[in-house]
Amino acid sequence: MSKAKLNSRIGLIQPSMTIGISAKAKELKANGVNVINFSAGEPDFDTPDNIKMAAIKSLAEGFTKYTAAGGINELRDAVAKKEKVKNNLEYKRENVCISVGAKHALFNIAAVMLEPPDEVIIISPYWVTYEAIVSYVGATPIIVDTKQENGFVPTVDDVEAKITENTKMIWINNPTNPTGATYTQQQLEDIAQLAQKHDLWIVSDEIYEDIVFDGYKPVSIATLSDYAYERTLVVNGVSKTYSMTGWRIGYTCGDKDIIAAMIKLQSQSTSNPTCISQTAALEALEGPQDSVEKMRLEFEKRRDYIVGALNGMEGISCYKPKGAFYVFPNISSFFGKSYEGKKIENSMDFCTLLLEHAHVATVPGIAFGDDRFMRVSFATSLEDIEEGMARLKAFIEKIQ
Ligand SMILES: *Cc1c(COP(=O)(O)O)cnc(C)c1O
Repeated sequence: MSKAKLNSRIGLIQPSMTIGISAKAKELKANGVNVINFSAGEPDFDTPDNIKMAAIKSLAEGFTKYTAAGGINELRDAVAKKEKVKNNLEYKRENVCISVGAKHALFNIAAVMLEPPDEVIIISPYWVTYEAIVSYVGATPIIVDTKQENGFVPTVDDVEAKITENTKMIWINNPTNPTGATYTQQQLEDIAQLAQKHDLWIVSDEIYEDIVFDGYKPVSIATLSDYAYERTLVVNGVSKTYSMTGWRIGYTCGDKDIIAAMIKLQSQSTSNPTCISQTAALEALEGPQDSVEKMRLEFEKRRDYIVGALNGMEGISCYKPKGAFYVFPNISSFFGKSYEGKKIENSMDFCTLLLEHAHVATVPGIAFGDDRFMRVSFATSLEDIEEGMARLKAFIEKIQ
């Protein structure tokens, strides 16, 4: 038996279920099974060539040593410029911290700002990591439920009902993983006002800001009032927009004292994000942007197909998202029924049977706080989507 004595905090979090199911699907694939993988949380496109070339060039030139812990000045300035041009947000270098992905940025925010008995409002269905990070630092995630018929956006009253004297922050994600929910400017203004009324900080995860459909244009909540500008930490990165998940570059923009604390923490933990990834991210932000639109168009085509296919299936209802690359169909009508004699009680049962019998990998909604759904990523080819939807249809037709 292992003698490892872990601390109590690590016991508060579960391994990322998204990564777990992806691994299971990959394993089946490695064993020769033709798996259609809808579990991916990353774009399927290759990183654009201009970005890869920038990294190769800086490597060849010997740019291989430590950089400043909060990132190179050029990249911090490029992020500030990008936020000005794209979102009309005024930041200086001192308002920007470069981290090892947006996930790391969120972790650092929690680590420098939260402690017991702080509470953080998280909108459900939510990205699993939010709950894990908040719990890990000893704060309490407070979950606000939403409804599919409201586009998975909460009402202000539902949010306000969860605010207590310990509420310190609200975390929002627009567009949202896993639902593809998008907020209108009015909805964000309402949240900004509520935050001001209760003296809350806002974390705005804008990682999907460029993957949007039907002409939806996200505004950053930080632009909506002076209070929101001062109290919002804008989190973003290059992973999704530029298909650069493995490069691990994300960033935070906001209050300079918080940014300085995050950089201090990085200086004693990770040190700088990988040097050549920073060069690549700089090229991503400052180089040609045509690949972004090309990927966006492809995602929109796939979304149209997959939403149509899902809503054409008996027993499934699917919200049509205006952003990100996921759909979140309701599969709860199958609960209480059976597939080949095996009972389906919840989203985990449904997704497990679907993977084992139809070789289609999805992520159970329970991983995002709502058991009635599953997450289907369309960051995969249209051919795969067509095949996967055909398999899903055949699968559910055998459920009785
Ligand atoms: C993918 C994702 C991120 C960022 O990931 P990094 O690769 O760490 O930059 C952040 N938030 C959400 C909601 C995501 O889905």
